[in-house]
Amino acid sequence: MKAVCWHGTEDVRVDTVPDPKILNPRDAIIKVTSTAICGSDLHLYDGYIPTMKSGDILGHEFMGEVVETGSAITNLQKGDRVVVPFTISCGSCFFCNRDLWSLCDNSNPNSWMAEKFYGHSPAGLYGYSHMLGGYAGGQAEYARIPFADVGPIKIPDGMSDEQVLFLTDIFPTGYMAAENCDIQPGEVVAVWGCGPVGQFAIRSAFMLGAERVIAIDRFSERLDLAKAAGAAVLNYEEVDVGSALKEMTGGMGPDCCIDAVGMEAHGHGAMALYDTVKQAVRLETGRPIVLREAIVACRKGGKVSVPGVYGGFIDKMPMGAFVNKGLTMKSGQTHVQRYLRPLLERIQRGEIDPSFVITHTLPLEDAPRAYKIFRDKEENCIKVVLKPFASV
Ligand SMILES: [Zn+2]
Ligand SMILES: [Zn+2]
Repeated sequence: MKAVCWHGTEDVRVDTVPDPKILNPRDAIIKVTSTAICGSDLHLYDGYIPTMKSGDILGHEFMGEVVETGSAITNLQKGDRVVVPFTISCGSCFFCNRDLWSLCDNSNPNSWMAEKFYGHSPAGLYGYSHMLGGYAGGQAEYARIPFADVGPIKIPDGMSDEQVLFLTDIFPTGYMAAENCDIQPGEVVAVWGCGPVGQFAIRSAFMLGAERVIAIDRFSERLDLAKAAGAAVLNYEEVDVGSALKEMTGGMGPDCCIDAVGMEAHGHGAMALYDTVKQAVRLETGRPIVLREAIVACRKGGKVSVPGVYGGFIDKMPMGAFVNKGLTMKSGQTHVQRYLRPLLERIQRGEIDPSFVITHTLPLEDAPRAYKIFRDKEENCIKVVLKPFASV
């Protein structure tokens, strides 16, 4: 089959690789009808995630049609259309039982690697390094789905791939980011980063009762999408974000601050330069420019939510501001399985059509170009969907 493979920094190729096989009774194989490139794939593309190997198949946002099931699978049948959560979870461990799916204890066969970095291992993820399981991803014609009896959700007839594909990751991720803010009536939510996750965080914040959402980015096409959702916008290349947020909130600062940017933030001034240099020489794994700004901007007693990805260590955290302002911070890889059903129902009720973020639909063979235009925001690119079988 054809698959998008990682071969090093900025080197992504479409290779011919062996078809996936059923390895365990709880596996299923799907024929991928749509798959997307995620902002977090760019951290792999840019070479900032450790334990990648040449030839690894990328992709954790994908859906398709079941073509084969293991002997223990009774919930799925050949021909079912399913969306696959990017977190691989067993469904029966301590964490899965507590709805903390991205912390599953049984889905990372390389947990020892993650334990060295993090103390404990999170769940395995598709196409996201050997430290997180070494699973083949779904930017491919076919994919193996472990624990297929608990992960995938069947999609009702009449819904397009584009409407439901982002249940795999970015819609639940944006939603959980807003939910982690515990938004109270009348509250103001500031969202740094208006990429796909930021867009879903903005819309989810409104769904969860935010009175105002302030969106921060530097690309006009992303700010326009945020405006279309009803957010006020700030271009950080034109204004000082900290002062603008203070002014817009009567000096208080936003009640909730969402870092939807993560480890490859851009910024200005001495701290941004410091991070760029330290990350380039691998003395720091992330450039936490946004996270620092969010902590300093947040109102006293406010809430900081971090859906943006951080992989390792970051410097110069304003811990003094965090402690002395009594802030709360929540983060985590998304517990996707928890959100599949309720968010599918929101789509069915017409409360949101997640396809609004798609700017490019390309055949799988165009993946190398797709990664580049997505990373460099060329052609006003916000989100790319790849079609392994162009006629499907
Ligand atoms: Zn993703
Ligand atoms: Zn589990």
